[in-house]
Order: sequence, then structure tokens, then C-alpha cells
Amino acid sequence: MSTTPVNSTPQEKQILHPRNLHRDRYNFKVLCKSNPALKPFVAVNRYDIESIDFTNPEAVKALNKALLKHFYGVDSWDIPDGYLCPPIPGRADYIHYLADLLAESNNGVVPTGNKVKILDIGTGANVVYPLIGSSAYDWKFVGTEVDLIALASAKNIIALNKHLRDKIDIRRQASKTNIFNGIINGGEVFDASICNPPFHASALEAKDATETKWKKLGVNPNQKTPLNFGGQKTELWYPGGEAAFITRMIEESAVIPENCKWFTTLVSKKETVPIVQRALTRVRAINVKTINMAQGQKASRILAWTFLG
Ligand code: SAH
Repeated sequence: MSTTPVNSTPQEKQILHPRNLHRDRYNFKVLCKSNPALKPFVAVNRYDIESIDFTNPEAVKALNKALLKHFYGVDSWDIPDGYLCPPIPGRADYIHYLADLLAESNNGVVPTGNKVKILDIGTGANVVYPLIGSSAYDWKFVGTEVDLIALASAKNIIALNKHLRDKIDIRRQASKTNIFNGIINGGEVFDASICNPPFHASALEAKDATETKWKKLGVNPNQKTPLNFGGQKTELWYPGGEAAFITRMIEESAVIPENCKWFTTLVSKKETVPIVQRALTRVRAINVKTINMAQGQKASRILAWTFLG
């Protein structure tokens, strides 16, 4: 099994957002203090640097527990087997670029504190965006979720971390095809909505992509692994893929133009951009921005739109 570290050389990490706390190489001594269960997974790799085997889901989970505790004050965090184990540095980037977007209409200053309310569509079993955003900027979050196991996991994480109980509210989306419908209460106003959408068009496409990723990491795809840390089920796919999901989000956003000052979403495939931009023209969004991000070798972008002047 390869032990090549992903995203672990300083050069690669330089392209993270300037306020991202993960631009430097991981300090495993410090991280192992935060989570002693990480220790058995740490070894010196072929570049003579301490690292973990990023193809081992248990090692990645232990690293995430350590990072969330050390950098974001999350004392207790876990996810059910088979659910998405998110790369923390990349998720933090979205939060910091969002902070910059909100600063633009706040005299260039990032608004902080619990008056800032963010809606996280598809918060996942991991609740990663609310965990980072509430710690980094003291924002309040509402996280939505359709998958009942992910929903229970998200609620459990909040219940286990007392200081998060009045900062993060988890709401069930009862319909797989709805995004904002049934979630936002009458006069509720959010400063922004965020989303990491399910991006594959089918379960098969999701499976193929996971296998390709495993191959790139040097792992035999037939090898049995304790859990599929690429995520599965509804987490990674939606009929029509991310283009259909985001188009639906855009259409629903036009019905509630004043309930979110900014609507935003990740767009992972660049082919999706022109499709969703056409949807934004159709609904007459007033201002549309594309914010480019790059983590390691993977380019991604945040699409943001508003109906407010
Ligand atoms: N935010 C997490 C999880 C992203 S995966 C992260 O970045 O790691 C996408 C999530 O969206 C999954 O948990 C999936 O169950 C959820 N989802 C799919 N359709 C949804 C919908 N209509 N409303 C809310 N959540 C949805």
C-alpha cells in the first residue's frame, strides 16, 4: 500500500486561503496530543516526513478528530461507517472565501458573531462547515440533511459538544428533491447559504470515481477496506448530478430572493459552470460571482448569486 501523503508538502498548501489554518505541514506531535488514537497511524514516509497513510480510512478519521479538536475546539466527533470523511483544509477554504464575500458588503471587514446566520444545505454526517465556521468566525448555522443516518450523526455531534448546541441547528429536509422548500421559516433571513452538492449523476458514476481515486492512490480497488471514506448513497449522487442539483437550487432560490443575502454553492466540475450560469440568467440574479479555489491538484470554485441590490 502506498504511503504517499496527499496535500502534505508546504508548496501545495501555499495555495490555500491566507487565513486557512492548515497552510503549514501537519504537526503530528501536537495533533497526537489532541487525539492519542492518531499515534499508531503516524510514520515517517519516503520523503522523511512524519505523515499518515491517507488511503487508510481509520487513519484519516483519526487525523480529522485531531484537527477538529486542536483547531476548532470540537471535543467529540465521529461519523458512521461509509459516510464522507471530509478533508478539513479544503472545507475550511470555502468558509474563508465566504467570509471575504460577506466582508465586501461590510466595509471590507469580515462580519463575526452570532448575528451572522449561515444555511448549510446537505451538512452531512460530518457537519464539517458549521464546525469550522462557528469556531473561526462565531457564526450561527442551520444545517439541512435528507439522509436519516447522516441527520442522526449530525445531531449527535452537536449534542456531544455542549458549546455548539445554541450555535448549530440541524433540520431535516423531508423531500430529496427539495432544497430550501420546507426548511426556511417565514421571515427567516440568512446572510448566506452554502452547499457541497452531491456531484455524481448515478450510484455507478460515484462508484467508478471512487475506484479511480483509489487507483491514483495506489490501492487495489478490489481490496476490501473497512469503510468507503469517499462517501456513498445519497451523499455523492443525485439524478442529473451536480448540474441538476444546483439548477434546482437556483430555481428555488428565486422563489425566496430575500431570505438569503447570498446564495452560494461549490461547483466541482467545470463543465457544470455554463449550465448553471444559464439558470442564473433565466431567474435574473442581480449579481453573480465565481470564486476560484485550488487545494492540492484539484481546482474547484464557489458560485455565488444574489437577488438583492
Ligand atoms: N457538507 C458535507 C457533506 C456533503 S455531501 C461535506 O462537505 O462533507 C452532500 C450531502 O447532501 C449528503 O449528506 C446528502 O445526504 C445531502 N443531500 C442530498 N440531497 C439533499 C437535499 N435535497 N437537501 C439536503 N441535503 C441533501
